[in-house]
Amino acid sequence: MENLRELYQQVILDHNKNPRNFRKMEHPDGFAHGNNPLCGDQIDIYLKLKDGVVEDVSFDGNGCAICTSSASMMTVALKGKTEAEAKALFDSFHHALTEDTAYPDDIPLGKLEVLKGVKDYPVRVKCATLAWHTFDAALRKFQGDISTE
Ligand code: ZN
Repeated sequence: MENLRELYQQVILDHNKNPRNFRKMEHPDGFAHGNNPLCGDQIDIYLKLKDGVVEDVSFDGNGCAICTSSASMMTVALKGKTEAEAKALFDSFHHALTEDTAYPDDIPLGKLEVLKGVKDYPVRVKCATLAWHTFDAALRKFQGDISTE
């Protein structure tokens, strides 16, 4: 268990040090700014959709290690997913970080599993889910729903 924790730690540190898809995007289809005042995390999420599929997703901004690595892993996980699959993954991920019970639909989290450890640190849950909430906001803005936020 200790080794597993260390491995998880390494994956998180790696994504924090070398964040994937860390760049501004020209002419995104969707864009949203995410802010986590509890920690000071500030990130922007950009996305491109084609025929309902996430063609590209990127982020920039300033976040703590958990926020940055979670955003980095999210961009990797979401590319090529349909909007419905992206939402389902977000639900499953959010559930894994906030609930003790197994997620009913059992959607595999893949590498996102490494972030499950933050469940023991409620303050950190917001850091880990900020990118996802922001992605969700960007998607809803793209779909014309501006009543949120
Ligand atoms: Zn944070």
